[in-house]
Amino acid sequence: MFCIFCKIIAGEIPSYKVYEDESALAFLDINPVNPGHTLVVSKKHFVNFEEADEETLCQVIKIVKKIGLSLKKNLAVPGYNVAVNNDPVAGQAVLHLHFHVIPRLDNDGLKPWPHQEYQENQAEEVLNKIKIN
Ligand code: AMP
Ligand code: ZN
Repeated sequence: MFCIFCKIIAGEIPSYKVYEDESALAFLDINPVNPGHTLVVSKKHFVNFEEADEETLCQVIKIVKKIGLSLKKNLAVPGYNVAVNNDPVAGQAVLHLHFHVIPRLDNDGLKPWPHQEYQENQAEEVLNKIKIN
């Protein structure tokens, strides 16, 4: 087996399964940001987001939507974050494609993203590098 999530998919490691179909598995994150924090993983092993094929990504994101709806409906949370930590520098600890679906509560105090301002000309410079024509 490739990794810990492959072992969960294979049933070699137990998990709290929220949803499963032929393309993906959703289960509770063992160390949740908030209760109900769910991971949606592709059944195929891909190390990260851009390695995954489009068909898999479409299948997985549909399940992310189902999970988000269930969190809102059944936990009565007002919202949730959908997050992919892509590559170790971005905080990815398990190198198998997965989406975090994190219930958010009013006043839960989480501030995920510190912001900064662009320096002069920096926005144009970075835009010229990354723009897709
Ligand atoms: P990431 O940092 O994006 O790679 O997230 C990996 C997540 O997997 C972390 O939030 C862990 O708490 C979670 N995790 C690791 N092992 C398990 C496990 N056996 N069952 C459920 N969640 C796990
Ligand atoms: Zn894997």
